[in-house]
Amino acid sequence: MDNKIIYVDNNATTQVDPEVLKEMMPFFSEYYGNPSSIHSFGGQVMKYVEEARHKVAELLGARDTEIIFTSCGTESDNAAIFSSLFLCPQKRKVVVSKVEHPAVLNLAKELDRRDYQIAEIPVDSKGRIDLERAEEMIDDSTAVVSVMWANNETGNIYPVEKLAEIAHRHGAVFHTDAVQSVGKVPVNMANSSIDMLSLSGHKLHAPKGIGVLYVKRGVRFRPFVIGGHQEKGRRGGTENVALAVGLGKAAELARVNMNVETTKVKALRDRLEKTILETIPSVRVNGDVENRLPNTSNISFEYIEGESILMHLDRYGICASSGSACTTGSLEPSHVLRAMGVPYTAAHGAIRFSFSRFNEEADVDAILTHIPGIIQTLRKISPYWN
Ligand code: PLP
Repeated sequence: MDNKIIYVDNNATTQVDPEVLKEMMPFFSEYYGNPSSIHSFGGQVMKYVEEARHKVAELLGARDTEIIFTSCGTESDNAAIFSSLFLCPQKRKVVVSKVEHPAVLNLAKELDRRDYQIAEIPVDSKGRIDLERAEEMIDDSTAVVSVMWANNETGNIYPVEKLAEIAHRHGAVFHTDAVQSVGKVPVNMANSSIDMLSLSGHKLHAPKGIGVLYVKRGVRFRPFVIGGHQEKGRRGGTENVALAVGLGKAAELARVNMNVETTKVKALRDRLEKTILETIPSVRVNGDVENRLPNTSNISFEYIEGESILMHLDRYGICASSGSACTTGSLEPSHVLRAMGVPYTAAHGAIRFSFSRFNEEADVDAILTHIPGIIQTLRKISPYWN
């Protein structure tokens, strides 16, 4: 591709920070020993895994022993939910929200097929969770409640502490998928009631294929990946040393730079959103603008298809996302926008822009240069626009 890439799809994945890459490199070459080996060549490697664990713990305000390395956010989500169900076989109810990532929502569907009872908490038109319905749905038959900290499509932030408190009143475990929030907003598990939390390296400038499950001290846990004694018997499989070290470095950078970055990233997001709203007719922001991640903007360009917009943006090297999923050949608006009751004409034209610390003002300038013309061109040929 000739164009310079303008990457505003950071909720899908992020660029590996060069400092993270540098930190990882020796573990692909000279330090190849197995951290479980008795000999010092392998054993020395364990020290680096433990350092990485400590850095992740620091970012989360957690203890090192509460951090389990996994292969990804999806595995962490599965591990948390399966553990809770396994340890409490007499309870058959699982409560999730309607706007979870498929890592939780499709697992809930699978559990439904295995005769568990699934309850999905609804959201309102801004994507805010209905706490009253949550209170009704979470009862003494609930084994686990899993509600995300922040939504990947809209950036909405959810009242996870409140939900944890409701879950505990009924003796249920509370898990949160914090894949989109860790590294973007402060997380402090020291003062938290949350029992388990998932995160994923590739959303915070570490590589794909490494995740963490935080399990609060005192919360019982059964391994999901069963095998060797790694991770204190909580996750079998030889540690992915290089990626764990990378995630440790990424966590350290996120912790040190979060305040500065958040200010910068939010300013970029806000300028893009404000200018689009002011200059292009029939657009709307999806989500709770008062309470969302600083990097995410989900904008509907009404009466046109998000995919067409993405294809036009792609010609200029601009990488963003739409919320639609291709099911049986037709484009369905995302389950998140459908749960919010966003009208079809708007849901189809939704685009998610998600920023990171690697974005600059020039990226916003480039998007603002191209997007008005793209929208005008597509609306001219839209049967719904006149
Ligand atoms: N949960 C949320 C909210 C996500 O956004 C994602 C990734 O898009 C995941 C879970 C899955 O993470 P991973 O790709 O590491 O499995």
